[in-house]
Amino acid sequence: TRQSHDGGVANRVRVTVRLRPRNAEELEADLDFADCVELQPELKRLKLRKNNWESETYQFDEILTETASQKRVYEVVAKPVVESVLEGYNGTVMAYGQTGTGKTFTLGKLGDEDTADRGIMVRALEDILSSINHVDDTVTVSYLQLYMESVQDLLAPERDNCHIQEDPKTGDVSVPGATQIQLTDHQSFVNLLDVGESNRVAANTKLNTESSRSHALLLVQVKKAVRSKEPTENGNGKMRATTIRRSKLLIVDLAGSERVDKSGSEGHTLEEAKSINLSLTALGKCINALAENSPHVPIRDSKLTRLLRDSFGGTARTSLIVTIGPSPRHRGETTSTIMFGQRAM
Ligand code: ADP
Ligand code: MG
Repeated sequence: TRQSHDGGVANRVRVTVRLRPRNAEELEADLDFADCVELQPELKRLKLRKNNWESETYQFDEILTETASQKRVYEVVAKPVVESVLEGYNGTVMAYGQTGTGKTFTLGKLGDEDTADRGIMVRALEDILSSINHVDDTVTVSYLQLYMESVQDLLAPERDNCHIQEDPKTGDVSVPGATQIQLTDHQSFVNLLDVGESNRVAANTKLNTESSRSHALLLVQVKKAVRSKEPTENGNGKMRATTIRRSKLLIVDLAGSERVDKSGSEGHTLEEAKSINLSLTALGKCINALAENSPHVPIRDSKLTRLLRDSFGGTARTSLIVTIGPSPRHRGETTSTIMFGQRAM
C-alpha cells in the first residue's frame, strides 16, 4: 500500500503469472523443446530464457505453474479481491496475455462437464451469492464487450453503443443503458454467462471479427445491508442501525495482447489493432502510474480505463493475472507480456 493521488492509501496492482500447459500441438511438434520460461514458484520468480545460456529473472507477487488447479488460481488471484468487495470496497480482476494462453480459461470457464474446471467468474459469484444473508442484499450483474471503443451489451446485443456514466460527485462509474440482472441463485448466473458468450460469438461474427479483438467485462454490483457495531439511540431505545453498503467487482478478459501484423492487414483489422493498442497502452500507463505512485493516472485516455476508474487504485483492490504459454516460438510475445506485468510491480 502507498499514498494515492487523492490523498488516501492506494493499493498497487497485485500481479500473478500463470503458465498454460503445453497443448496437443506443442506436445507433438516440439517434444523436446525447452520451455521459454523457467518457473521458481516458491521464490515467486520467473526466468525468461533468451537463448541456451542467457536468461533474465523477474519477481512477481505469485507464480502459478502449469499444474495449478483452477481452485488455487481463484484463491491466489481473485479471492482476496472478492473478500474486499464483500467488505464494501471496489475491486478488479483482469487477465492480460497473448491469444491462446488461457485468459478465458482462467476467468470465464463455465465447467459444465467438470466443476473443477470452473473459472474465476463462476467461483467469485458463488462466493458472493453465498455471503448474501439479508433480505435487502442484492447482487446485480451486467456483461459487456468493449470493441473499437464502443460498449456493447452482451445480454442485449442490439444495444451496441452504451454510454459510460460517471457521477461527478461520487466518482461512481456505471453503464446505465446496459441490462442489469439481479441474481437470485448461482445457476441463473451460469446461464447468463452462457447466453452472454453465445451473443459474443454472434455479435463478432456479424462484425467479422474475433473475440480475441475485444475486451469482455463482467460488472458485479453488490448491495449489502450492514449493521453498525455500536448501538445507537432511536425512539425505541438502543438499536443497531442498518446501513446499505455498495461495492463493485469488475472481471475483465482483455483483448489479446499480441501485436497484429500491420503490413498484411486490411480493412478494419488495422483499425482494430490501433484500438486495442490504444486501450492496452492506456491500461499499461495507469498500472505504471500506480506502481510509481505518480499523481497523474491517465484514466481518461480510453473507454477501458474509464470503465475501470472507480475500481482501480485508491481504496480499490486490483489483481492482474498475466497468462503465458511455454513455446519458445512465441518468445517475443511472452517477453512483452512479462514486461507488461513487471511494470506494475
Ligand atoms: P485466451 O482466452 O487467452 O485466448 P483460452 O482461454 O481460450 O485463451 O485458452 C486457449 C486454449 O488452451 C483453450 O483450449 C483452453 O481450454 C486451453 N487452456 C488454457 N489454459 C489452460 C490450462 N491452464 N489448462 C488446460 N487447458 C488450458
Ligand atoms: Mg479468450
